Amino acid sequence: MFQRVLIANRGEIAVRIIRACRELGIDTVAVYSSADSDSLHVQFATESVCIGPAKAADSYLNPNAILTVAKQTGCDAVHPGYGFLSERSDFARQCTELGLTFIGPSGDVMDKMGNKSAARELMIANGVPVVPGSDGALETAEAAMTVAEKIGYPVLIKASAGGGGRGMRRVDRPEDLTAKFEEARAEAVACFGNGELYLEKLILNPKHIEFQILADRHGNVIHLGERDCSIQRKNQKLIEESPSKALSAQLREEMGQAAVKAAKAAGYENAGTIEFVVDQEGHFYFIEMNTRIQVEHPVTEMVTGLDLVREQLRIAAGLPLSLTQEDVQLRGHAIECRINAENPSENFRPCPGTTTFLHFPGGPGVRVDSLLYNGYTVSPFYDSLVAKVIVHAPSRLEAIRRMRRALEEMLLEGYPTTADFCHLVLHHPDFIKGQYDTGFLAAHQDTLLNWEKED
Ligand code: ADP
Repeated sequence: MFQRVLIANRGEIAVRIIRACRELGIDTVAVYSSADSDSLHVQFATESVCIGPAKAADSYLNPNAILTVAKQTGCDAVHPGYGFLSERSDFARQCTELGLTFIGPSGDVMDKMGNKSAARELMIANGVPVVPGSDGALETAEAAMTVAEKIGYPVLIKASAGGGGRGMRRVDRPEDLTAKFEEARAEAVACFGNGELYLEKLILNPKHIEFQILADRHGNVIHLGERDCSIQRKNQKLIEESPSKALSAQLREEMGQAAVKAAKAAGYENAGTIEFVVDQEGHFYFIEMNTRIQVEHPVTEMVTGLDLVREQLRIAAGLPLSLTQEDVQLRGHAIECRINAENPSENFRPCPGTTTFLHFPGGPGVRVDSLLYNGYTVSPFYDSLVAKVIVHAPSRLEAIRRMRRALEEMLLEGYPTTADFCHLVLHHPDFIKGQYDTGFLAAHQDTLLNWEKED
């Protein structure tokens, strides 16, 4: 096992990784920007080093600064968390070249799955169902038009390098296609420095269902069931749960097998996520793979009883998986609510500020992963996620009630958050019935916010 791990991240995920390391007796080195000197991850790590100014490009996204610290402090491995450098294959390679273990897949595997259109082709070649669409990337709007005519509108133009819903455009009519294609290309170039586009049929009102997989160096690949992440706003997830009410045992089995097949096709190693959309008839289609730990990993930890970061460390150290597929038991129901420093009534505008009072919920089946403490000032430079409240209960309805109770107990003063909005979603009849898809928030956001006013 490793002696000393550098955490190339900040916020709640850096804290989460430090916790796993401490339990394994591994020392940690935190890196931080000058805006983060008061951060929890800086205080919790064995050692911490400032790597630059607040701007992420000059600190958390600066591989050289981070790797210099890793070498100087005698680290033997680097955990990238999510976001920042976690999906940068060049960073993974640089780590390896310096003799540091990158806790994640190899740079080559990342490249293979990171280009979404190439990943799509790999899935087709390996018999994993994908959304009907283009064979590989599209050079021109005319080529996109031909594919769209064949599969039928509406279609979704997507960026091969895409992420966070950027470079993505819905097109309902042929006359809009050229303009949207150019718009998507410009956005993809601006966001990712890569304008490559492809096209998929738009699945109407799908569910977003993703499977957590674990793969070790010895060829063992298992899945840990699904997460339903259909409660999204502008492609950003807000509430996640496991298991999904929309999956029968048979569909879970089929999708789990497809996820394992996808990971094997990629030659994947470490923890990863295979994302699917599921249509109203229960057909499922691969959309992309995330080659890192995800924000919503705790719901899987709650239903499996596993520590996924610990598994990541074990895998990266060359150890075999600590369990087989037969050993995986999914117990009860887990829900996660993302608490963002945003104002829902101002269209979820980020509202960072100073935490003037803080009390986290507790009691049976409640977990909070957060970067907050009393008096902590949320930085405007980074993501607005400040806490994740996760609950576990024997059944879905009990989990819903537990989450409502947990959010009622939580006291967070100083800035608006998404906590009350999540609480409202947990009272919506369609959410309670489990009858929701990725269009739920767009359809109900205004109604929910008006409920709040009526209270
Ligand atoms: P990104 O990497 O930018 O997050 P994804 O490919 O993961 O993009 O898609 C983001 C979200 O967009 C999905 O969670 C899903 O809600 C929706 N989506 C993606 N592809 C399709 C599709 N073909 N049809 C309908 N919805 C889709």
